[in-house]
Parts: sequence; structure tokens; C-alpha cells
Amino acid sequence: MFDVLNFNSKKLFINIHTHQQIHDAKIEIVNAYLNSSNDFNLCSYGIHPWYINEKTISDDLQKLELITTEKRCIAIGECGLDKLSSVDFKLQEKIFIEHINIANKVKKPIIVHCVKSFNELLNHLRLTENKMPVIIHGFNNNQNIAELISNYGFYFSFGKALLGYESNASKVIKTISGKRFFLESDDADISIKYIYKKAAEILNLDEDIIKEQIKLNTQTIFGNKLIAL
Ligand SMILES: [Zn+2]
Repeated sequence: MFDVLNFNSKKLFINIHTHQQIHDAKIEIVNAYLNSSNDFNLCSYGIHPWYINEKTISDDLQKLELITTEKRCIAIGECGLDKLSSVDFKLQEKIFIEHINIANKVKKPIIVHCVKSFNELLNHLRLTENKMPVIIHGFNNNQNIAELISNYGFYFSFGKALLGYESNASKVIKTISGKRFFLESDDADISIKYIYKKAAEILNLDEDIIKEQIKLNTQTIFGNKLIAL
């Protein structure tokens, strides 16, 4: 059992969303899709809006509901809405709502993928009376959207977009509360340590302060669900 209260290392890296376990962070939440035969220490399960298959979706949802009860599964997702996906948008909405309902049932935070669909996303989270923390992963949108998300009390996770100084992510990270952000490598072939380094540079802060803040944010939303197996 991994006791979150024993986080005392300032060297602690937390990768809130990745697609591979490379052990360069103490905590890596690996996106496992529906693959429950994985060997990840910590993972999230979800149906990505790109990969919704109408033919298998009812079985897939049943499986999701089952595997999200695993202890090592500490979040639901990535799931969400993507207007650039070829999957029918109404179907995406339906499946996103299912994810919200499952997350509220198993009481785990939601890791969200959202492309050009923030109004719909926020509406669904409101209408379903979602009570779980929401992390918008790979955030690289403008200030207006960032304010909207902050007003809802949701969280941001920034990744490789921080490598571009002129990116939306690099601008937005300077304006939001430290209590609201996480860092991730996502599917990029890059160490989370490098993302921390860039975040520290952009924010003009010591990297240890960022580690401390993300550690606190992690405790806030995951609490005692953080179990290293
Ligand atoms: Zn991802």
C-alpha cells in the first residue's frame, strides 16, 4: 500500500496521463483503454472518442464498468468529445455520458479528451450532475475556454504543448491557479521530467515548487485511491 501522506520527496514526479509505463515518475497513470490484461501499476480505463465502435459498444461499456472497479484503476478515461473524429458526434456524447455515470458510480476522477466541443462537454458534465473531479488533458486552448473550465472547478493537464513558448498552453498555465494543474507526457516520446523542466521555465519557478504543488493537487483529487501495487 502506497501511503500518499508519506510523499516527502521533492524529487517526486507525477505523470497524470501517459500511454506507456516508463518508470520515470513515481506516479504514472497509464491510459489502458479497455485492456485489463495490462501490467501497469496505476491506470485509467476508458473508451477514447476516436475508438468508439458502434458494433461492440454495449459489450465495451459493460467491460468498462467492471474493470473500473480495479484498485489500480484510479481514473476514468481518457474519454470525451472530439469534433474532428469520424465517429458520429451524437454517439460520442452518449458514450461520454456513460463514462460520467460510471465515474460517479465508482467514485473516480475523469480524464477528458476534448477537441472543439467544450460547450457540449461542460453541458453534459452539468446535466449529469457530475460530482467527480475532471481533468482536461492535453490542454492547449485559449484563455476564454480556460476561464470557463476554471469556473467549473475543473483541472488542467498540460503536456508537450508547453514546449512551444507561443502555444496556448504556455500562456494559459501562467494565468490559472496552481491548485488547478497537472503535467503529462500523453503519447509523446518524451520524459515527464522534461515537461516539468519546461513548466518551471515558463512559470519562472523552482521545479521543486511545481513538484510540491502537483503533489498536493494529486492528493486533493485522488486521495487514498493512490495505491502502488
Ligand atoms: Zn492520451
